[in-house]
Amino acid sequence: MNLNVKNSFITALPADSNAENTRRQVYNSVYSYVHPKQTSNPSLIHTSLEMLKKLGLTTSDATSKKFLDIMTGNAIYPETKPFAMAYGGHQFGNWAGQLGDGRAINLFETEYDNQRWMVQLKGAGETPYSRSGDGLAVLRSSIREYLCSEAMYHLGVPTTRALSLSLTGDQVLRDMLYDGNSAYEKGAVVSRVAPSFLRFGNFELFAVRNDIENLKTLTDYTIEKFYPELGEPSKETYIQFFRKVAEKTLHMIMEWQRVGFVHGVMNTDNMSILGLTIDYGPYGWLEGFDFGWTPNTTDRQHKRYRYGNQPSIGLWNLYQLANALYPLIDEAAPLQAILQDYKADYGKQSLEMMKQKLGLETENERDPYLIQELEDNLQLIETDMTIFFRLLSGFESASNYKFILNASIYNPDEYSEEVSAKWESWFQKYEKRLHEEALDPYLRKEKMNAYNPKYVLRNYMAQMAIDEANKGDYSLIDELFNVLKHPYGEQPEYQKWFAKRPEWARHKVGCSMLSCSS
Ligand code: AMP
Ligand code: MG
Repeated sequence: MNLNVKNSFITALPADSNAENTRRQVYNSVYSYVHPKQTSNPSLIHTSLEMLKKLGLTTSDATSKKFLDIMTGNAIYPETKPFAMAYGGHQFGNWAGQLGDGRAINLFETEYDNQRWMVQLKGAGETPYSRSGDGLAVLRSSIREYLCSEAMYHLGVPTTRALSLSLTGDQVLRDMLYDGNSAYEKGAVVSRVAPSFLRFGNFELFAVRNDIENLKTLTDYTIEKFYPELGEPSKETYIQFFRKVAEKTLHMIMEWQRVGFVHGVMNTDNMSILGLTIDYGPYGWLEGFDFGWTPNTTDRQHKRYRYGNQPSIGLWNLYQLANALYPLIDEAAPLQAILQDYKADYGKQSLEMMKQKLGLETENERDPYLIQELEDNLQLIETDMTIFFRLLSGFESASNYKFILNASIYNPDEYSEEVSAKWESWFQKYEKRLHEEALDPYLRKEKMNAYNPKYVLRNYMAQMAIDEANKGDYSLIDELFNVLKHPYGEQPEYQKWFAKRPEWARHKVGCSMLSCSS
């Protein structure tokens, strides 16, 4: 196993001078060196070959004992020094103070094919940032992170990646439903990969502590390594840096909206400075199209992070980042202008995204109404988002649209005359609208199918893989991993995964609702 190790992060940025792994507030440093915990009986469950290749590793590397040892924290790659990062964050709208990598340990930075990667373990034990947690992760949440990050990548959504999923052989105590019933679960570690795992919260923590020197050091480093096109640090560069982060964040969220992904915990400590989807916790996929839906039971009351609110939360989070960067810029107007642009761009991009989902390319001033009416209709009765949009590419005329609704509506008894009339009316308008398009219907169908996925990681699918894995059978993890590599392909052999959520899953824990316990 040969890696082209680069230690730019730990070389350029200040480390915690305290080398003890005790829980505490860490000042004046970006990270603390820490050793992953030894595991008792590690075993590899799955590896992403796509990610392996990107790191310049081979399949035989992935089956070596060394790989297993490193990816479960039992060995350290030569000449590397694992570390946990200090960051803070706004959680559910309030400043939460120092958080940090409580159960993530960055192993090393490596370069292959002109791309820098940071490899990180999630669930490898305590760090100075573990607060009241144990630094460990259980199998169910690790499977969810592993499968979803690779699925998102293949959907074309900016995301951190996953390299491997392993069992530690240790037991971990969790109160899954937060109802006082703790139980032991299988411990697991995911090795995940991204150019960087820096979050808005890394910048916020220094700003809140008025540690402007380290704020500047971290910002300069981030620009130099990840936004080099912006040039040498200066006030103008910092403004442009904020603009780029705002654009990337908006792009990421529009992609979530396109595929029906709900992150569930959009706290600023879970917002990547590179605009990547990060920290797969109680996320979920829309089944019935519903702007008000969130999978996260912790957010059940206010639904702050519901599907329809994600773009506004992105803006709120950027506002916090703007506040954090303000000391480097000393002028509010340019930051405010960027936040204003986010709002305007959101409107434009949202329209563009919905038009593409509908296969519309030309301009028509009535399109926003057509889309509004569609979104209203989709929420009249429970209607499956993925199936609806996927089948829409097969729509030819308003005399034949029922096959789309038959396949996507959950309870046919709810399909009243009123609902039916509304759909009839919408499909007539849609048919007329399609006549304005010059594109050959066959090509339109192809384009729509490349934009509206057929296969997403439905909540119950992940839960089925988890239930099997808890019994020691990992074949479903492998099957889902493979289906989700080609989310836009027809893949008739996997047709069973192009189906509405089964009724048994409607209220099952893990399928329709999730807590943050992981
Ligand atoms: P999350 O909600 O998973 O993004 O986590 C919020 C914060 O809690 C982060 O600082 C995590 O590192 C930390 N955290 C979550 N779970 C654990 C755990 N089991 N042990 C230690 N820290 C944790
Ligand atoms: Mg987090």
